[in-house]
Amino acid sequence: MNFELKKNYIDGEWIGSSQTINNVSPSDLDDVVGVYALATTSQAEVAIDAAYRAFPHWSTVSPEVRADALDRVGSEIFARRDELGTLLAREEGKPKAEAIGEVIRAARLFKFFAGEALRVSGEAFPSIRAGSEVVISRVAEGVVGIITPWNFPIAIPAWKIAPALAYGNTVVFKPSEFVPGCAWELASIISRAGFPPGVFNLVVGTGAEVGSTIVTSEKVRAVSFTGSTKTGRQIAAQCVIRGAKVQTEMGGKNPLVILDDANLDEAVEVAINGAFYSTGQRCTASSRLIVTKGIHDRFVELLSDRVQQLRVGHALEAETQIGPVVNEMQYEQDLEYVRIGISEGASLICGGKPVVQPKRGYYLAPALFANSKNSMRINREEIFGPIAGVIQVTDYEEALHVANDTDFGLSSGICTTSLKYSSDFRLRSKVGMVMVNLPTAGVDYNAPFGGSKGSSYGAREQGIYAREFYTSIRTAYIKG
Ligand code: NAD
Repeated sequence: MNFELKKNYIDGEWIGSSQTINNVSPSDLDDVVGVYALATTSQAEVAIDAAYRAFPHWSTVSPEVRADALDRVGSEIFARRDELGTLLAREEGKPKAEAIGEVIRAARLFKFFAGEALRVSGEAFPSIRAGSEVVISRVAEGVVGIITPWNFPIAIPAWKIAPALAYGNTVVFKPSEFVPGCAWELASIISRAGFPPGVFNLVVGTGAEVGSTIVTSEKVRAVSFTGSTKTGRQIAAQCVIRGAKVQTEMGGKNPLVILDDANLDEAVEVAINGAFYSTGQRCTASSRLIVTKGIHDRFVELLSDRVQQLRVGHALEAETQIGPVVNEMQYEQDLEYVRIGISEGASLICGGKPVVQPKRGYYLAPALFANSKNSMRINREEIFGPIAGVIQVTDYEEALHVANDTDFGLSSGICTTSLKYSSDFRLRSKVGMVMVNLPTAGVDYNAPFGGSKGSSYGAREQGIYAREFYTSIRTAYIKG
């Protein structure tokens, strides 16, 4: 089959390349979603130059112009939610209903930041020098480099691009080369929404070439990255050395605590959703299930029954609950961690094996380990797959200690009917986001997102908190 090459969007033009990448569906390895141009290092530099030239105008244009353009992007994404959700499901593998939900979230993010463009405010107060005034305002940073992972191909780009543009920055966007489809559609929508050339640029490419060109360019004043902890730390170091602003959202090993007094059925559903939905490929997935001894055996029994009922299948089939793993590398890594868990002495209760489907894809039965220890590699390293380990503890204090005993600090959850324990957990859990009787994954687009330790570095994303990253503060002293 002949595919029309999907090009990169640089300085208001669609630019091809001799290097290309095939976007293949993980649900069906014979299904090529499209062929995408891979930008070269010099094309990335042209994109950065274009964004640099576009900044003075875009940062001073009426906020209404920015708001209207962002609103148009949100409207088109929303209107095309089924089509874009189908594309997302095809290229990334999450079930279509979840994929449509992600597309709607992206639309709402653009609408939210369209409003925020009109609400940029400052402060004024009398100077200690009589007759003078202090005026504090927020100003755009300049060219922002945006680098994203494969697991949320439209929501993560949206929650970075929308605020960057809303506050007057210009953007060079490098999506994960594994999921260029949604990124390309988003660029195409942005190209029609009324942004001047150069304000937004798409450069699909590899991290080593295009990613590092963005990170090391002196013209890029801020870098917003989401991805693995290893890459994030490297990027943060590169930015800090050259004095650029940086925000890195990285891995997780999120604990879900289940106390004896929890509503058992509810806790099982919270664990199913948090650990296995989106094939466990969420930075906020509950990969460590920490259960107190009174409820432990019943919880493991019920959870294992539910895990085995989960329907693994093609992302576009209506009955699918767990789609395929995203690509071969991740699939092999998941299988390797199942072997590691067994060799460490944890009991594999169910799953962890390839599932044969009519189409060739990366299908894996969700895996549940019991009798696992917090010191095991399966509980210390981010697996990023449909694999969870149950850790039995004596009481709440031990549960809290185990929950905090990790290199990561993104989200945590507790299932309990006790106000005392839920309040204490909220205060003492060392993470950025705490969930009470809710899955560790699944957050609101108008609330701050981010964590601590190995999970996040820099300012929070989303909600009005996003302005901390995408603007800086200017203090003016004015004598009339
Ligand atoms: P990754 O780190 O391999 O890649 C992320 C992005 O960085 C990609 O676009 C990649 O091409 C680029 N990149 C790689 N090397 C680079 C370099 N040297 N310079 C510049 N860019 C470079 O991550 P991934 O495998 O795409 O995504 C999975 C990871 O993302 C998981 O660890 C997951 O926890 C994390 N994640 C975190 C969050 C969060 O908000 N905390 C959300 C989603 C995913």
